[in-house]
Amino acid sequence: MIKIENLTKSYNRNPVIHNLNLEIKKGELCGFIGPNGAGKTTVIKILCCLLKPTSGNAFINNFSVLDSPIDVKRHIGYLPETSSLYEDMTVNQYLTFFSEIYEIDKETSKKRISELLNTLGLSIWADKQIASLSGGMKRKVAIIRAILHNPEVLIFDEPTVNLDPITSNSIRKFMEELSNNGKTVFFSTHNLYEAESICTRVVMLNHGKIILDGTIDELKDKFGEQVLIKFRKEGKIQSIKIEKSQIKECVHQLSEGGEVISIKQEFDFEEIFEKLVEKE
Ligand code: ADP
Repeated sequence: MIKIENLTKSYNRNPVIHNLNLEIKKGELCGFIGPNGAGKTTVIKILCCLLKPTSGNAFINNFSVLDSPIDVKRHIGYLPETSSLYEDMTVNQYLTFFSEIYEIDKETSKKRISELLNTLGLSIWADKQIASLSGGMKRKVAIIRAILHNPEVLIFDEPTVNLDPITSNSIRKFMEELSNNGKTVFFSTHNLYEAESICTRVVMLNHGKIILDGTIDELKDKFGEQVLIKFRKEGKIQSIKIEKSQIKECVHQLSEGGEVISIKQEFDFEEIFEKLVEKE
């Protein structure tokens, strides 16, 4: 789990993170969203012990970033916004090299590298030089490097930025799989569709403050203003979009000559995001 307590960070006395509090439980797949300059990377770097907070504290599996940075690093898999790989090495050589740094025994490392390459569709590239890989494949290699030591908490800074839709999709699926296997996944993204499609929770940051925090369903309940009703009439399935306030009346009318099949809240993440950021 991740816990952030009264966290403040200033650069040259200029505060960019303001008294932040946040707790992310084991197994959550949490998207960290917000406009450029909101402070996402700063928070992520503090969680990964790459930056010191000005005040407050943060914990990874109860280890404090201030008091136990070595334990924190052991429990996290950190994917930076950009990572430079050793391009002269083959994928296998590179990952084996990092396994040695993590002091993973040879047999476990071989098995783990092979499994991860397979899951991310890179097996046939294992003996190719990193320089010959596409940007998306290099990103996947960086992800594998970040999680070689099988950490409990995964902190990824914009894992899919600038990647093609197929690669992005496979990385999203991989993050879902990690979370389904009990890992805590916290990742920043600009892609609201991404957040909406896979996250069990979304935290939105603006000017160093959390302006929204909830599950997608909670956000839908709170902000979804339109409702999509599917119904069957004269044997045909049809749908209509109505305002939330009209729901009772509409369902009543539809039930008279037909059958209501489902009622779903409509939600425009992008619109909500813009409204909230404007309000600040
Ligand atoms: P995000 O990741 O959401 O784009 P950042 O954490 O990178 O936001 O930046 C938050 C704010 O802190 C921005 O105003 C940025 O200009 C400022 N900032 C980030 N790093 C530094 C630094 N090393 N020195 C001074 N200001 C910084």
